[in-house]
Amino acid sequence: MKPLANFIDLEKLSTQGYQWQGKFQLTQFPRLAELVSQTDIEDTVFFCKINYLASIYWLEFSVQATLENQCQRCLQAMEFLLNEQVKLALLEDKSQANLLQEDDWLLLNDVVNMVKHERRLPIINMIEDELLLALPLVPKHDLNDENCVPVDILVEEEETVVEEKNNPFAVLAKLKDK
Ligand SMILES: [Zn+2]
Repeated sequence: MKPLANFIDLEKLSTQGYQWQGKFQLTQFPRLAELVSQTDIEDTVFFCKINYLASIYWLEFSVQATLENQCQRCLQAMEFLLNEQVKLALLEDKSQANLLQEDDWLLLNDVVNMVKHERRLPIINMIEDELLLALPLVPKHDLNDENCVPVDILVEEEETVVEEKNNPFAVLAKLKDK
């Protein structure tokens, strides 16, 4: 089976459309992969479809995947479910936005890559942009999670060590040696 396409020519899309279904692979989404702890995801659902209807390209996708990253309170691993369903209209012209009921749209000129005379839609990049917006800015366990113990104590201990290094008596001792 072919992997999810990185780019697709708009011309081709307008006549043939595009559809892909398979495993969500982090290796295809490097910016997302940097923000999570695991390298592979089990049990994912990933579906992507592009249609051309009434002069508008429609990018639809849905992702369900359990991702793992670090809780910023206890610094332990935590899981969260990425569950995204997105439908984006890709417009040639802003005036087309008036015809839409939804307000999720982008201008084609802002997203396509020109390669010679081809206008290519960077599918993976666009999906990744949407997924990054769905990630929690500061991942944290639920407040009432008993296993989530804040690491403040650890941080304080580290500070004590630093203070000892700057101990004025230690500085004096050094001066005496000279
Ligand atoms: Zn936690």
